[in-house]
Amino acid sequence: MAARDPECIFCRIVAGEIPSTVVRETERTLAFRDVNPQAPVHVLVIPRDHYADVGAVAAAEPELLRTLLAECTAVAADEGVAESGYRVVFNTGPQGGQVVPHCHAHVLGGRELGGTLG
Ligand code: AMP
Repeated sequence: MAARDPECIFCRIVAGEIPSTVVRETERTLAFRDVNPQAPVHVLVIPRDHYADVGAVAAAEPELLRTLLAECTAVAADEGVAESGYRVVFNTGPQGGQVVPHCHAHVLGGRELGGTLG
């Protein structure tokens, strides 16, 4: 794990070098609105440290993964979709649709998301 990758867009958001709309933060995580929202609620929850994907976090720091998931739940509550329902997605790798290689959870809600997964 590199604490920070200067080439990584999400590391640069954590560092405040690229603006973002932060909705929650903890010592280890940041939650901010997706710049290209796919639903009325679309928030990204990331570890501040650079991990390539969710598997890397799970392998290295299971407690950080627990915090990430707790923050996803908290975002859903803050955004008012805990009752109506929401989706948490970790795209992983090229065929998984991951474009930004810094672990992130998409928290999506506020509309009917349908029953298909790709
Ligand atoms: P993924 O395809 O899972 O890697 O998702 C990357 C997400 O990051 C996409 O939904 C993008 O819209 C989002 N994104 C990229 N750049 C930014 C940015 N500067 N601020 C907020 N969201 C971003």
